Amino acid sequence: MSREQVAVERARKAFQTGRSKDLGYRIQQLKNLKRFLTERLKDITAALQKDLYKSQHGTELYEILGLEGEINVAVSRLAEWAAPRPVEKNLLTISDEVYIRPEPLGVVLIIGAWNYPWAVTLQPLIGAVAAGNAAVIKPSEVCGHTAKVMELISDYMDKEMYPVVTGGVPETQELLRQRFDHIFYTGNSTVGKLVMEAASRHLTPVTLELGGKSPCYIDKDCNLSIACRRITWGKFVNCGQTCIAPDYILCDPSIQDRVIDEIRKCIEEFYTDDPKTFQDYGRIINQRHFKRIMALAEGSTVAIGGENDESQCYIAPTVLKDVSPESKVMQEEIFGPVLPIVPVGGLDEAIRFINEREKPLALYVFTSNQKVIKQMISQTSSGALLANDCLVHYTISDLPFGGVGNSGMGRYHGKYSFDQLSHLRSCLIKKLNMEAVNQMRYPPHTTEKLRWARILLTKPVNLGRLRRFAQVAMLAALAAFVMQVR
Ligand code: NAD
Repeated sequence: MSREQVAVERARKAFQTGRSKDLGYRIQQLKNLKRFLTERLKDITAALQKDLYKSQHGTELYEILGLEGEINVAVSRLAEWAAPRPVEKNLLTISDEVYIRPEPLGVVLIIGAWNYPWAVTLQPLIGAVAAGNAAVIKPSEVCGHTAKVMELISDYMDKEMYPVVTGGVPETQELLRQRFDHIFYTGNSTVGKLVMEAASRHLTPVTLELGGKSPCYIDKDCNLSIACRRITWGKFVNCGQTCIAPDYILCDPSIQDRVIDEIRKCIEEFYTDDPKTFQDYGRIINQRHFKRIMALAEGSTVAIGGENDESQCYIAPTVLKDVSPESKVMQEEIFGPVLPIVPVGGLDEAIRFINEREKPLALYVFTSNQKVIKQMISQTSSGALLANDCLVHYTISDLPFGGVGNSGMGRYHGKYSFDQLSHLRSCLIKKLNMEAVNQMRYPPHTTEKLRWARILLTKPVNLGRLRRFAQVAMLAALAAFVMQVR
């Protein structure tokens, strides 16, 4: 048996003991995970410094605080999430118990990406634990130092229930040959398709958290200095390696130069005039990605930045101007600190531009005009839409996070993670009396029975408000029906 097979089998055996069904156990495991984050913070930040040149404060701000917040939400709301959820009944089931019971799925495979390796790997884990599943955790091999530290989770959590399996593509493929009850993958859409193909062999449901090009439209009617401040932050944090970073700007040619001036000022303010030596400006993860990003920028006009150093995987915050839609940089997700500006003649053209392409993970619009925001919302589709800011929707646990179309499927964060990794089982509990009510469904089928079935099954009734009245009416109707079919 391979190492991966052993880990999955052990996780399944641990799940089958039933211990993860207990809410107290789940809460304890979540608290253990939080303790791991606190006690191992130094190891976590040191590893990320080596992998992505992230600063200690940056790691805490962008990776750890969000996880702690999600754990707190899960711990405080788990009892409510896991409780049976009564639903509205119809007239036929009015005296029955009808509810949804969230149940664990079984063993979940979590495949993480490298750009925010803690956030994108452990956030799904929080959902998996809260929902009562076992989980096999596969960190990205691309951030090797971080993956090593992630293995230490086994010292804190139930290591049979939540094994960490490290390794590269062969190991991930071996994992994908095993049977899981859900696969939660974060990464690029090419591998996303492979994951889905592997999952289909066992009819395993998948959540795919993918990426793509997230557009950012700047309207003429806008406070450009504030807009550019927020865009500069959203684009260049983590050296542009953020799945929801604004990938490119769309704006009227008449404001392009002012946008460039404002972004230049913000780059200097945030990262000094020498970002290469500044602690809060990161690096590209590896030389393969460095070369890919540099090749994308070829052929476009550099307005800001452009300096680079392959030996350090350094690319300065870079803005490209007058970029044509046909240029290389507009053909794939940039995932680096290069920001093209594509001039468009106003909102309608921007909307057309966006709709001609794949549905993005995030869509940004900057404007002081509410009508522009409303039009952008109603005439486009994307995983999320933000007006007048970037990235921050990620921090709201009550907003579902996920893509649509090419940017992914499924959603998570807060209760959405819990629901995504639960089976929402429909339960209807009847008593063995009132058999006469069922006459209408038993053969022989007659016009009269059909008439009654139509009344009882098709009339929309708000039983919430009319419960008492409906119960009385229902009893009267049933009595009449019973009398007739005798
Ligand atoms: P990556 O290279 O780390 O790959 C992700 C995972 O896939 C890794 O664990 C890796 O082992 C596995 N993998 C890679 N090739 C494989 C193969 N051939 N077969 C099986 N498994 C394989 O990460 P990446 O794909 O470079 O990540 C960047 C992408 O992820 C970007 O497109 C970004 O937008 C997206 N992303 C999305 C989100 C989100 O929440 N939607 C978050 C972060 C990143």
